[in-house]
Amino acid sequence: MNNFNSIKSIFSQFLIPIFFAFIFVIFFNAIKPLLIYNLIENILFSALIISFCFFFHKIKTRRFLFLVLTIFFNFFLIFETLYYYLFEAILSSSAIFILIESNNSEITEFISSHIDVKIISFLVFSFLITIYSVYKIFKYLKFTTDLKINRFTLFEIILNIYFVLKLTGFIIYNGPYIVLKTPLNYLSEINKFKVYGNEHKMGNFTNLTISNNHEDELFVIVVGESTNKKHFNLYGDYHRETTPLLNDIKEELSVFNNVISPHTYTIASLSKVLTLGNYENPEKIYQGSVLQLFNQADFQTYWISNQRPIGMMDTHITKIGMGANKYVFLNTKHTNDNTNFDNLLLKPFNDAINDTGSKKVIFLHLLGTHMDYKMRYGKNDEYFKDTPSSEFKSGNASSIINAYDNAVRYNDKLLREIIETVRNQQLKSYVFFFSDHGQEVYDDADFFGHTIDQNTTKNMFEIPMFIWTSDKYNKNKVLNFNSDNKYMTDDFIHSIADISGIRCSEIDSTRSIFNKNFKARKRIILDSVDYDIFFK
Ligand SMILES: [Zn+2]
Repeated sequence: MNNFNSIKSIFSQFLIPIFFAFIFVIFFNAIKPLLIYNLIENILFSALIISFCFFFHKIKTRRFLFLVLTIFFNFFLIFETLYYYLFEAILSSSAIFILIESNNSEITEFISSHIDVKIISFLVFSFLITIYSVYKIFKYLKFTTDLKINRFTLFEIILNIYFVLKLTGFIIYNGPYIVLKTPLNYLSEINKFKVYGNEHKMGNFTNLTISNNHEDELFVIVVGESTNKKHFNLYGDYHRETTPLLNDIKEELSVFNNVISPHTYTIASLSKVLTLGNYENPEKIYQGSVLQLFNQADFQTYWISNQRPIGMMDTHITKIGMGANKYVFLNTKHTNDNTNFDNLLLKPFNDAINDTGSKKVIFLHLLGTHMDYKMRYGKNDEYFKDTPSSEFKSGNASSIINAYDNAVRYNDKLLREIIETVRNQQLKSYVFFFSDHGQEVYDDADFFGHTIDQNTTKNMFEIPMFIWTSDKYNKNKVLNFNSDNKYMTDDFIHSIADISGIRCSEIDSTRSIFNKNFKARKRIILDSVDYDIFFK
C-alpha cells in the first residue's frame, strides 16, 4: 500500500462513523438542510484532524495523536447525534449552559425517561465502530512511516479547511468549537455585566425627572417564573380553579391578554426585561437597569429573591438585582432540590415595607412554577389530584400537570397575600406581576418545561401579566388600559418608568403599555421570527 492509499484508507475510517451517525438521524428524524451542513462540517473537520496528525513526522507521536483525536472526534459525533435525535436541534452554546447547570439527579432523570432501544443500539454500534476505526488507522499508519509531507503544505491545507468552515458558517455545527466557545462567551458576558452590581447603583440615565415629590409611594414588582398563561385561571379559559384568590379581586386588576416574553428562558429574557435592552437594541442590556433607574429617581430599592444567586444561568440577573439598595437571596439550592417555598419571601418583604423611607420599590423574584413543579408547594397545598383534561396522556403527564396546577394555585395565594399587604399600607401603590417566560405543560405538545429558544411552543412565550393599583394611586393617575394590546416584556422598563412617574431621555413612552402614546410594535423572537405571524 502506498502512502496516498494509506491516507485515503485512514480518511475512510473517519467517514464510516460520520455516515453511520448521519443515517441514524435522517432515519429517525426528518432530513433538514442543517443536517447536510453538519455532515459537510464533520467531513471537513476529520480532514483537519488527519492533516494535523501528519504535521508530526515521528510515527509514535502520530499514533498517539490519532488515538486521542479519533476517540475525541467520535465522542463529539455521538454526543451531537444523540442531542439531535432527542431535541431535533443542533448543539448550541445555550444547550451546553443548561447541561453544565443541570445537577446529577436531573441528568439521571432525563436519561432514564428518554433512553430507548434506538439510543442503546446507536451507542453500542458507535462504540464498536470507534474501536474498529482506531485499530484500522493504526494498521494503515504503518505504511506511512516514511511519509513526510511538507509542513508548509499541510499548514496551508489546515488553514484552508479552517477558512472554509469559518466563511461558510459551518463552524457553528462543530461540537468542539461550541464547547470551547461557550465558557469564553460566558466569561466575556459576565465581564460586560460588571456595569451592574453593588458598585454601580447609579446608572447613566439623563434628564431624569420625577412627577411626585411629596407623597409616600410603595411600588411592588413581582417577577414570576415559568408561569403558563393557559393554566392561569384568571384568564378564564382554564378548566381548573388555579387562581381563586386573584379571581375574587379580578375587577381590581388590569389583566393583559396578549403579552409574551422575548425569550423562553430566564437569563435571556430577564436581561432584556430588567434593562434598556430589547430585540431592536440588544446591546442596550449593558446600558442601564430598572434598579439603577429607580435609584437615580431617589427611590429606596429592594431586590428580594428566592432564586439562587450563583450559577451559570443566574449570575447575570444577580448582578442586576445587586444594584438595589438592599438585596437578599434566600435560596442557595438548585431548582430540583428541596428549595424554600416562595412564602419565605414574605418576611423580608414585610421588613422592607416597615423600613424607613417614603418612596420604595420592592422587587420580588419568585421560584414560581419552575420545574420540578412538585417542589414548589407543601403537602397542604396539594389540591388537584384527579385526572386533568389533556390530550397528552404519556407517562406521568397527569401527575406533572397536577403538580404544575398546584404550583400555580400556590402562586395565586402568594400574589393575593402580597396585594393585601400592600393594600393595608393605604399608600399610593401598585403591585405588578408578570412571568419571566412561559412554559409548555402538555398543552400544545407532548412535552413539559421550557427550552432554550429551540423547538419552542406558543406557551413558552405567552405569559400572564397584570397590575393592581391602590385607591390613592388611582386618584393620582389614570392608566391607559387596553387588555388586548400586543406587548413583549423587553419593553418592561419603559412601562414601569411610566407608571412610577419617572421620565428621562432613555425612556420612550410609545413603548409603555400604560401610556396613551403606546404603539404596538412587531414582536420579533428567535432573532428574526415575527411571533404574531408564526404562531397565528
Ligand atoms: Zn425562568
